[in-house]
Amino acid sequence: MTKLLREPSLRSEASETLDPNDWEALRAQGHRMLDDVFDFIAGVRDRPVWQPAPDAVRARFRTALPHKPSELGSVYREFADSVAPYATGNVHPGFMGWVHGGGTAVGVLADMLAAGLNANLGGRDHMPIEVERQVVEWVREMFGFPAGASGLFVTGTSMANLMAVLVARTAVLGSSARRHGNGHQGALLTAYTSRAAHGCISKAMDIAGLGSDGLRMIGVDDAHRIDVAALRRQIACDREAGLQPFLVVGSAGTVDIGAIDDLMALSTLCREEGLWFHVDGAYGALGILSPVIAPQLAGIENADSVALDFHKWGQVPYDAGFLLVREGERHREAFAAPAAYLRRETRGLAAGSVWPCDLGPDLSRGFRALKTWFTLKTFGTEKLGAVITRTCALAGYLEARILAEPRLELLAPVNLNIVCFRYRADDANRVNRDIVIDIQESGIAAPSTTVLDGALAIRAAIVNHRTDTCDIDALIAAVLEFGGQRASSAAVVDIAASPSLAV
Ligand SMILES: *Cc1c(COP(=O)(O)O)cnc(C)c1O
Repeated sequence: MTKLLREPSLRSEASETLDPNDWEALRAQGHRMLDDVFDFIAGVRDRPVWQPAPDAVRARFRTALPHKPSELGSVYREFADSVAPYATGNVHPGFMGWVHGGGTAVGVLADMLAAGLNANLGGRDHMPIEVERQVVEWVREMFGFPAGASGLFVTGTSMANLMAVLVARTAVLGSSARRHGNGHQGALLTAYTSRAAHGCISKAMDIAGLGSDGLRMIGVDDAHRIDVAALRRQIACDREAGLQPFLVVGSAGTVDIGAIDDLMALSTLCREEGLWFHVDGAYGALGILSPVIAPQLAGIENADSVALDFHKWGQVPYDAGFLLVREGERHREAFAAPAAYLRRETRGLAAGSVWPCDLGPDLSRGFRALKTWFTLKTFGTEKLGAVITRTCALAGYLEARILAEPRLELLAPVNLNIVCFRYRADDANRVNRDIVIDIQESGIAAPSTTVLDGALAIRAAIVNHRTDTCDIDALIAAVLEFGGQRASSAAVVDIAASPSLAV
């Protein structure tokens, strides 16, 4: 058999390959680029968190389709000059906008190795798929799911939530719905989540063909957790009207203030009512790794499915979303589709079914599992959990500083790692919106905004493992500084805009 292996001498010196002629030159260039990546991360504090790309840079960057080759070094210079300095800034410890993970150097290296293998994780029998299966097993263990649970890497929780809606739909309508469509019975399906839930759940209902009107947005309590009694009443009311409740989506870490629904109460309700219980744990579910946060997630182990993002609190570089499903069979029923060209064998490269393409909409899939596997193994779950605990402690520190400062007002309880507050001022919504933009443009920090009961809030989500108390202090100082400027200029604008002077 070895005789059949190709002789090295049979290799031609093809000129049409995309491999370099000079591997030594490529190696030197590659090492420079890798050094720059490490310098970029190690020196991140020396740079602004974010800066807008100047018009000149944007203009220079736009070119016609390149027909001719360019030297790698010059293409890299264009990246270094025009792209890298104007990234979102979430690598920076001062980045607190939205819920973005900080990434790690280990994740960078793992992604580089994944690109080297150029593995396609749609299916077939190769070890990269075993890496994904290993991570699925670890996630199953983290959440106390039974053997037979299945999981899959996807882009993010938006996709994982959509898939959960589809799995729940197929579970209730039967797999014939995959051929016939949702039909009349589908039109009766209703799902439930809270008003504080992420917008992608409504979008998932829309994309699944069930319609976003089929999603009931239940009210929340003072701590922004779903009102379980109101949920129960709405379900009864919908059944009365001839509708068919099928799905409850609980939130483990709402995006606006980080509230965690009473997942135990929701799991009990879903069992009693015979409903699919899905948890949107995009960023909060990994709180399971923190002994301080985990008790708040009690009940998640009873979920039928959990969506989460390793690219947020897990610090894995983008993107690394994940869907975990309690009954693997249900998961497969929603997505597996036979095709002649995807025929399975018991040996050879087409062995090793079930394939990931049986568990989601994608056929070709990248190796997201590797950067997650490297992250979990290199740091260990205790260290990752400690990072999560610390981001919550930093949010507590920010809360304390706000409560001690009369010019600032806390706008929501601080449950996890998200703090919503504002600078006290007349025309507070406009002043605080301007403060946030001023701070972003200053490069000092990058908070974002949200609206709570009509009040525009400065929102600081502490997700990055590099964030420290000095970054919190810098944020407070900047809010007070820009707040002072904006509050006085707002007063001037108010006078100028008053009706008596307007004519
Ligand atoms: C971030 C987030 C999402 C969306 O996840 P993506 O990974 O951005 O698609 C959904 N729900 C919650 C609670 C989130 O925080």
